[in-house]
Amino acid sequence: MSTPDKLINFAKRPKIAVHKFSSCDGCQLALINDAVSLLELATMVDIVHFAEAGPLDEFAEVDLAIIEGSVNTHHDVHRIEMVRAKAKYVLSVGACALTGGIQALRNFTDEKELRHWQHDVYPEETEVIIEGDLATAKPISAYVKVDFELPGCPINTGQILRAIRQILFGVEPEKNVDPVCTTCKHAGVTCVMVAKNEPCLGPVVADGCDAICPKLGRGCYGCYGPAKYANMDAMIAKLKEMGLSDEQIKHKFHHINSQAITFHGVVARTISQ
Ligand code: SF4
Ligand code: SF4
Ligand code: SF4
Repeated sequence: MSTPDKLINFAKRPKIAVHKFSSCDGCQLALINDAVSLLELATMVDIVHFAEAGPLDEFAEVDLAIIEGSVNTHHDVHRIEMVRAKAKYVLSVGACALTGGIQALRNFTDEKELRHWQHDVYPEETEVIIEGDLATAKPISAYVKVDFELPGCPINTGQILRAIRQILFGVEPEKNVDPVCTTCKHAGVTCVMVAKNEPCLGPVVADGCDAICPKLGRGCYGCYGPAKYANMDAMIAKLKEMGLSDEQIKHKFHHINSQAITFHGVVARTISQ
């Protein structure tokens, strides 16, 4: 990650673009959902490309390109390289852009197996895998330099609006280094692992969502990705103590952020011990 050190010319109004790659659009909606703040932002910057909201100028030169989604096709690779070449800063948002997202679960299998499964879900004649597919779903950072990242599935609306302002004013966007447990403690939330013996990944997952799931009485499933100082060995030992099998624990981490190194690599190592 970088500090915003390239000058942005406010005399000309900064230009922003929002790009979608393979994704569900949920992170773009998180930005649109707070319409008042978005309109306020539009009084300070020119939003030149944001297909979900209207403006279209995909390869315009911009100060900030915000990217949702993962890279899945050769066409995606071409597009992200073009976007990067035209942007002073690139901000990746959401689990799809940061780790490949739920679609990266296909990285654990091969095309033949995928085609077999697709016929369990779709009619025989449906061609789900399209021409030009890459063998794996990968994050944006696998193909181009990314300056800043915001985790979440979806991202938090307040966080993205703050990050945009911070980047434009030359400040590095804040990062959450604490796990979800910290928010639970500050907010006085009853721990679901202690009170209900319900598995919760909060001790190893980055905060940023305001502990939504524990506040609703359910365990965290890890949509913000790994916390900075995640102790995976202790987490796995706790889940085993609660009666989960190795396979069940593996599935807990092979989910939205399955390709995050902390979840992908450490789980395989710990379970094989
Ligand atoms: S990170 Fe989640 S909400 Fe955002 S685009 Fe991907 S699947 Fe949708
Ligand atoms: S509910 Fe989950 S996130 Fe909250 S304190 Fe307990 S283990 Fe941590
Ligand atoms: S508690 Fe966990 S799963 Fe729920 S929104 Fe927060 S990070 Fe995502």
